[in-house]
Amino acid sequence: MFKALVVEKDEDGKTHASVQQLDEARLPEAEVTVAVEYSTLNYKDGLCIGPGGGLVRTYPHVPGIDFAGTVEESSDPRYRPGDRVVLTGWRVGEAHWGGYAQKARVKADWLVPLPDGLTTRAAMAVGTAGLTAMLAVMALEDHGLKPGDGPVLVTGAAGGVGSVATAVLARLGHEVAAVTGRPETADYLRDLGASRIVPREELTEVTRKPLESETWAGCVDSVAGAMLGRILKQMKYRTSVAAVGLAGGAAIEGALITPFILRGVNLLGIDSVLRPYQDRVRAWNRLAADLPLDKLEAMIRPATLADLPGLGADILKGRVQGRIVVDVN
Ligand code: NDP
Repeated sequence: MFKALVVEKDEDGKTHASVQQLDEARLPEAEVTVAVEYSTLNYKDGLCIGPGGGLVRTYPHVPGIDFAGTVEESSDPRYRPGDRVVLTGWRVGEAHWGGYAQKARVKADWLVPLPDGLTTRAAMAVGTAGLTAMLAVMALEDHGLKPGDGPVLVTGAAGGVGSVATAVLARLGHEVAAVTGRPETADYLRDLGASRIVPREELTEVTRKPLESETWAGCVDSVAGAMLGRILKQMKYRTSVAAVGLAGGAAIEGALITPFILRGVNLLGIDSVLRPYQDRVRAWNRLAADLPLDKLEAMIRPATLADLPGLGADILKGRVQGRIVVDVN
């Protein structure tokens, strides 16, 4: 038997989440069984714990899109009992049972060996949000960003992706401007390494100007909406925006072609869910090297499986700061 957060759907289509004891025989079929130690909370988890958001295929369901733990059994030669592993993406926790449980059974292809220097707890403080932040920073670097180029903007900075992006960019020697709608997070963001706080309202008005003054040398954007429309017009010549999320809306409001054709600005799409294995390994190794662990510790809000229904509702309302780390045991 093992403990898990189980989401059930009643006849009226309403979902209910509760912590239950499950028989190991109920785990899905796959090559590797992992004793999960920690999981975390992302926006998608909020949907899967609650209304489902069209992501969950069948009920009862065990959510949790990320987990880290130790291999217990494996029929795949790449993994042996005792190996420390991390999993993000691949629709685990949505279409397949996920990490809000003491045990998970998954495909070997979905796992990544945990790099030396990262504990399973630290890996979940990183989670999908942190991995995505690192993939965004790597994409900006691959397109020429280097320290000294000028301020790098991070939007949704007090959220999961934004917090890790802020800490990594600052550690790499970039000047970080952090956009937040929560002024009370200013000290937290400065501690992560932001040198400037930009109030959200400064970037939410939709303007019809074709271009604005060249201000940012790069941007990690979790927000999209009107903010991304404005930011594109403020990018310096031949710089890039890594587009990660849609916390402010799925459209790019007020966007014009002018930044692309007059300033050579790049809009780089970042996907973490189906990302190929080699990119994942590279990003986890970069995180182990470039994410200051003391800053990561400052982002952590500890939680248990029983806390998740409440926290899931909070993240859907944009009320979560930093990274929730769930001790599933
Ligand atoms: P969080 O909820 O932790 O953070 C999002 C942040 O965005 C909030 O903390 C808030 O920051 C800001 N925000 C929220 N609502 C608005 C709004 N209406 N207008 C402007 N800013 C807003 O989520 P994550 O960091 O985990 O994820 C961020 C986004 O990235 C989500 O859309 C998520 O779906 C997406 N994502 C995409 C991935 C990919 O593979 N491409 C992987 C992971 C996440 P503040 O309070 O500082 O203003």
